[in-house]
Amino acid sequence: MTERYAVIGRPVSHSKSPWIHAEFARACRQDIEYGRIEAEAGGFAEAVGAFRSAGGRGLNVTLPFKEEAFRYCAQATERARGAGAVNTLLCAAECSGDNTDGLGLVRDLAGNLDFELRGARVLLMGAGGAARGVGGALLEAGAAALVIANRTESKAAALAERFPGAKARSYAALEGEVFDLAINATSAGLAGEAPKLPGGLLRKGLLAYDMVYGRDTPFLAAARAAGARACDGTGMLVEQAAESFFLWRGVRPDTRPVLARLRAA
Ligand code: NAP
Repeated sequence: MTERYAVIGRPVSHSKSPWIHAEFARACRQDIEYGRIEAEAGGFAEAVGAFRSAGGRGLNVTLPFKEEAFRYCAQATERARGAGAVNTLLCAAECSGDNTDGLGLVRDLAGNLDFELRGARVLLMGAGGAARGVGGALLEAGAAALVIANRTESKAAALAERFPGAKARSYAALEGEVFDLAINATSAGLAGEAPKLPGGLLRKGLLAYDMVYGRDTPFLAAARAAGARACDGTGMLVEQAAESFFLWRGVRPDTRPVLARLRAA
């Protein structure tokens, strides 16, 4: 029997997740249907309830609902609890939540981009659902330093407290700091903007990573102009989706052909 899955968020019309999961299902011979649910602001629980009543088995959660999804779940994995955010829901009599964003990012960096996280000095920009999901995984993968900066500074400070060893800084206070990896986990690129970094931070030898995917953001353009290596979040998107698919179906899809086709498109 065909089992139902979907991505829930606001907006979701642009989401590539339905295409990615259809590709995984075809390659792994899984009989699933994967749709999109655009929930109203304040309407997350109602929309998830309707999906579950109709027999839905699992959801990917995207912005702005990852923190609400964590509060909605009856149980959550350790990595979701560490993040306080959920991007994957497994729906049965009760809902359990997990967060595959951190693993997806680490797999993209290590497996697709050949970046050595062990010993790296990492700047994480943003303090929303995406940043929450990846801080713990970056430290677990061996980052030597994790500095969190956010436009609303109090949120960066609160997030740094979740991850032992992480530090919060204002963007201005990053002046003179040297990083190996700068991750833009803000949604600034969607509005054609970039976090306000001090000059000199973007440099040759840095990997600049923007979680926004499928477009050349001002952050990536500035990084490239400064001689840094620049990558968007397409690989993370595919890798986090593969882990969700594995949690739901118990089968691990090969991400390489899907990533290659998505990049080519
Ligand atoms: P969110 O919870 O809404 O958080 C947005 C973050 O962006 C906040 O930290 C916010 O700062 C910051 N921000 C927004 N506009 C800004 C601007 N103009 N300048 C500086 N900072 C700005 O969103 P999210 O769930 O964390 O998602 C963030 C982005 O990551 C989205 O674009 C999403 O598509 C992407 N993402 C990609 C993947 C992937 O697999 N590639 C996975 C997860 C997320 P304030 O706190 O000051 O408002």
